Amino acid sequence: MTASTTSTARLLIVGPQGSGKGTQGVRIADAYGIPVVSTGDIFRANIKEGTPLGKKVTAILQAGDLVSDELTGALVRDRLSQPDAVDGFLLDGYPRNAAQVAQLEGFLAEIDAALDAVILLDVPREEVFARLKVRAAEQGRADDTDAGIAHRLDIYERETAPILDAYGAKGIVDRIDGVGDLDEITERIFAALEVRGLVRAAAV
Ligand code: AMP
Repeated sequence: MTASTTSTARLLIVGPQGSGKGTQGVRIADAYGIPVVSTGDIFRANIKEGTPLGKKVTAILQAGDLVSDELTGALVRDRLSQPDAVDGFLLDGYPRNAAQVAQLEGFLAEIDAALDAVILLDVPREEVFARLKVRAAEQGRADDTDAGIAHRLDIYERETAPILDAYGAKGIVDRIDGVGDLDEITERIFAALEVRGLVRAAAV
C-alpha cells in the first residue's frame, strides 16, 4: 500500500473491558500512523512510576471506580496537545461518561477538530467476563477479581454505553462484532473506516 499524505484520523474505540479494544486499538493506530491515547495505560504507568498522579489514583483503580472527570480531562487535554497527536489519535478509555464527552468536545473545538469515527467493539457481557477471568489468572491484574470485574462492567453499562447514543446521533458510530478471530476483527474495523473515507498510512 502506498503512503498517504492525508491519513489523519481522530478515532475513539469503545467497548467493555475485555472486548479487545486495547489490542485492536494499537493495530488501528499503527495502520493510521497515529498515537494511542489510553487513559488506563497513562494511569497505570504513573502508578508504576510512583508519580504524584499515580499516588492519587492508585486506590481508585484498585477499586475499579472512575478517576474524577477534572483530573482525567486535564490529562487528556495535555496529551492531545502534544505534537504527535495534533493531526490524529486513537482514544481508548476516554471519554467514559457524558461529562467527559462534553469535555472532549470542548478540547476538540479549541483546535477546530472533531472525531471522525467511534468504533464500538460489540462483545456480550458473558464473553468479556470469561475473557477477563482468564486475564486475571494469567496477568494477575489487581483490579481483575470477580467482584472487580462485575463492578467495572456495571459502570461501563451504566455510564459508558450511553455515550454511544450521542455519537450515534452524529452518525459516526461503527458497531463492530468483537467476537471471533483477532485478524478478522481488525479487518472488520478497517473496512468500516474505509467506508468513511479514512485512509490508512501503512499496511499492517
Ligand atoms: P482501562 O484500562 O481503560 O480499563 O482503565 C483502568 C482504570 O483506569 C479504570 O477502571 C478507571 O479506574 C481508570 N480510568 C481509565 N480511564 C478513565 C476515564 N476516562 N475516566 C475515569 N477513570 C478512568
